[in-house]
Amino acid sequence: MTAQLIDGNALSKRLRGDMATLTAELTARGHRPGLAVILVGDDPASAVYVRNKVAACEATGILSILDRYPATFSEADLLARIAALNADPSVHGILVQMPLPRHIDAHRVIEAIDPAKDVDGYSVLSAGQTLTGLPGMRPCTPYGCMKLIESTGQDIRGKHAVVIGRSNTVGKPMALLLLQANATVTVCHSATPDIGFHTRQADIVVAAVGRAGTVKADMVKPGAIVIDVGINRTADGRLCGDVDFEAVREVAGWITPVPGGVGPMTITMLLANTLQAAERRI
Ligand code: NAP
Repeated sequence: MTAQLIDGNALSKRLRGDMATLTAELTARGHRPGLAVILVGDDPASAVYVRNKVAACEATGILSILDRYPATFSEADLLARIAALNADPSVHGILVQMPLPRHIDAHRVIEAIDPAKDVDGYSVLSAGQTLTGLPGMRPCTPYGCMKLIESTGQDIRGKHAVVIGRSNTVGKPMALLLLQANATVTVCHSATPDIGFHTRQADIVVAAVGRAGTVKADMVKPGAIVIDVGINRTADGRLCGDVDFEAVREVAGWITPVPGGVGPMTITMLLANTLQAAERRI
């Protein structure tokens, strides 16, 4: 069996097309959606992520404001800038690119963002809304993974889902969103003795670890949906995920590639959250 590829680029293109239409309608009514992106420091990977987010905004018609500050920028100045963006009616979403320099308290910065503009969904309020199932901003990566799973046409209800990784930004909210969709959810992490024992029973596997080769073919149930969140580099510099793609695709029913799977969907859901924030505001 060779798995069907879940094409994150194609799904993103389709969703972003709808978003461009909605953005044009809101703009015509005098409410152009706006996203402010703040980058502090000169981490090259962060610079690429920020560039991609700004480009996606521009392609969709969303106004993007990019603030770049040196690594020496103070926490007080950053908080003051966030306060100004909170008060700016043309800004509907605020994203502070992580990681921040060590002298800045990331938690304090996230909590300074107006919850209505927390398009990354990282604040404690957004986390609580995700936990309780109340309306609010869902963290972009797990939100995008849900769209990828839904795109297979398989009913999530009653399925056994195994999430590997329990970070606050990916693994935990992923487990909550799957639970909300009525999956039976198992969460594995670095202290789980035998991850394969769990994944072999899973209809859906989401790998969010950051370690190549975490999910091997003998760990996957035939026909399962496999979502690979990980971003790693091979010895020869190529991008790869946490899943042993070539071998697992012979066992799984559906699989996301890296690159071209979860990555584009993360940005797409950032745009979705920005539009949601703009519509709520209006
Ligand atoms: P993270 O904060 O480092 O969390 C990694 C998780 O993996 C932790 O919960 C950790 O467990 C678990 N883990 C580590 N080693 C393990 C092992 N040997 N076996 C089982 N679990 C293990 O990372 P993250 O922010 O969640 O991101 C995970 C990966 O996804 C990274 O590669 C990141 O670059 C990627 N990512 C991709 C996107 C995208 O858009 N494609 C977005 C976000 C993240 P403990 O809690 O026990 O330490």
